[in-house]
Amino acid sequence: MIRKIARFSVFCLCLFSAQGLLIANELNRNFAPRFDLIVRPASFSRPTFAIKGSVTVPRHIDRVEVAEIPWQQFVFSTDRVDQAPDAAWQLTRPSFLPKAAPWKIEFSGLSSLHPPKSEASGDEIYCLNNCPPNPELLVDRGSFYKVKFDLPAGFSALSFDPEFSSSIGLQFQIARFQKPVHRKTAAFSYAYVFPEGFSADEDYMSFLETTMEKWFELLGNPGFRHVKVGVIRRGEAKGEINGSPCGNLILFSRSALGGRVDLSGLAGLGITADDADLFRKMVIAHELAHFWFGVKYAGQDGWMVEGIPQYLGLYAVWMKHPGRVGALIKFTEHLDRMIPQDAIPGHPFGDDQILYIKAYYQGSLALFRIGELIGHEKLVKLLSSVFDKNKNPAFADFDNSFKKQFPDKHDEWSAAWRVQY
Ligand SMILES: [Zn+2]
Repeated sequence: MIRKIARFSVFCLCLFSAQGLLIANELNRNFAPRFDLIVRPASFSRPTFAIKGSVTVPRHIDRVEVAEIPWQQFVFSTDRVDQAPDAAWQLTRPSFLPKAAPWKIEFSGLSSLHPPKSEASGDEIYCLNNCPPNPELLVDRGSFYKVKFDLPAGFSALSFDPEFSSSIGLQFQIARFQKPVHRKTAAFSYAYVFPEGFSADEDYMSFLETTMEKWFELLGNPGFRHVKVGVIRRGEAKGEINGSPCGNLILFSRSALGGRVDLSGLAGLGITADDADLFRKMVIAHELAHFWFGVKYAGQDGWMVEGIPQYLGLYAVWMKHPGRVGALIKFTEHLDRMIPQDAIPGHPFGDDQILYIKAYYQGSLALFRIGELIGHEKLVKLLSSVFDKNKNPAFADFDNSFKKQFPDKHDEWSAAWRVQY
């Protein structure tokens, strides 16, 4: 059976992608649903949530499609009259409701989520983007979420601010938190909200802030000026580094901000524990780039979705430690060689190994080589100027722009992308 979870169906390792699937039918999807939710964790050992709430639909919309999400069991009603979605998972405004006013769909039920997107361990629970715990409507715009968490004494929740919409669902962490640490740079203010017992290395907080300033300078305003930063236990046992942005919140693994990293799997490439610093910074800068890429900027190829953030990760480390980026390039080249050396453009993002490596590693390597050729800052400006003209560009848009600006380097550009004309 095909389960329809539509815009929530694209995954990646850094677990971020806002690419939606638009389903062509007669429904008007151009509106922003407004959710009002009460979320109660049903357990602190499994990521299961009891959820009650409603979603408000504008008055001009008579029919909506509910996402069919396999881990959810919900019942729906309007004005306390039970409503079941029809065979197409659509709900229609009942005739007893006034036509001239917005209408509300109420729901209650249980959601049983799974790692790595959502996990409960060590007195903490996290739920990341693209893994909705609440019912969702299939629309072409982001939804707004007003959430109350029903928690045991001593616990609280960290989520993005409700004035920001999300087209990749909710994201939050439940834990016993310390008092937030507030910091400020020229373009942003920050709230670091960490569970009891964790402190971040100053070095990584200041790298994060310098990188946000740089991305702001090169890519413009991401739509917010206040950033919330948290840490979760995702991948902790394996010493992984990861991060997951949503709205104005970013949740990193503890390892990204100074905790233990395990690079022993890369020993064969000459990469040692001393390189952990570079990998942490690459992941931090990559994930911060998703505040722009995947939200403000989309793109038709995998390299636009994940290759650009990964390249920006390399670029940020190169800016900070110009002579030390070699370990990261070696790692990238190793992955590049694992799959066919054919054209990098023209492939969508996907989670099978070939599409995944093509997007993250072949894409970022091509960009890094071009950046070395023309200057990284010039390349980033070229990329963002193409996106400013077209939010969902094709490779030809970048190709034409490069050809116009650097006609004598076009052969090297094509070679880096492995394209032939
Ligand atoms: Zn990513």
